[in-house]
Amino acid sequence: MGLPSLNSKVEMTGLTTPFFPFTGRTLLLLLALCLFLPGCALFDQGGADLSNFRTVILDPGHGGYDHGARAVRGMDEKMLTLDVARRVKPLLERRGYHVVMTRNTDIFIPLGTRTSISNTHADAAFVSIHCNWANRRSANGVEAYYFNSRSAPFAANILREIAGCYGSHSRGVKFARYYVLHHNERPSTLLELGFISNAKENASLQDPSTRQRIAERIASGISKIHGGRAPVATSGN
Ligand SMILES: [Zn+2]
Repeated sequence: MGLPSLNSKVEMTGLTTPFFPFTGRTLLLLLALCLFLPGCALFDQGGADLSNFRTVILDPGHGGYDHGARAVRGMDEKMLTLDVARRVKPLLERRGYHVVMTRNTDIFIPLGTRTSISNTHADAAFVSIHCNWANRRSANGVEAYYFNSRSAPFAANILREIAGCYGSHSRGVKFARYYVLHHNERPSTLLELGFISNAKENASLQDPSTRQRIAERIASGISKIHGGRAPVATSGN
């Protein structure tokens, strides 16, 4: 239907209120279509959440019987990730964020539980914390993963902060189908803080002052999109 006939319809029916060219049935059909179109702005949850998050879900990798990577010396991955997350929490709270830890002790939490914690918070962003391991002992560097491309800038902000903060180079922001990212409806990233199979990086990661520095950089990277502080809550959200 062309514009002239639409205009004539307005004149014919004598509408004075702002003209809306959809009937109730057409509108329902459009809304239904939007539900099935991943790029539709109306239901683009991830895109909307990316800048609106006020809750941060911190997910220290592994725990309990699941040690994660074994360090060449000192604490295993599960304890290092827990310690870093515990340091990030108060730093984010000081910046005005509500922080939820998927675990706060050395216990095993299934991956499905970790993602449900994230998915039940409508205003959340999710950050999983890990340490890397490789057979090749010289492998080193930090990296950040995303699954949904809308989370890539979020991952990049954090990686930019942590790269070089204890002398380790950036291995880049990478796509991966990790469970905690793939099943996550929120902006989400998985960080690899360095290789505990590498003697030099492991020695740094075993040092509490390095972990504190990393925690500060993670907090700064998470809050970067908001200029360093959590956005003020708007009514109705
Ligand atoms: Zn891990």
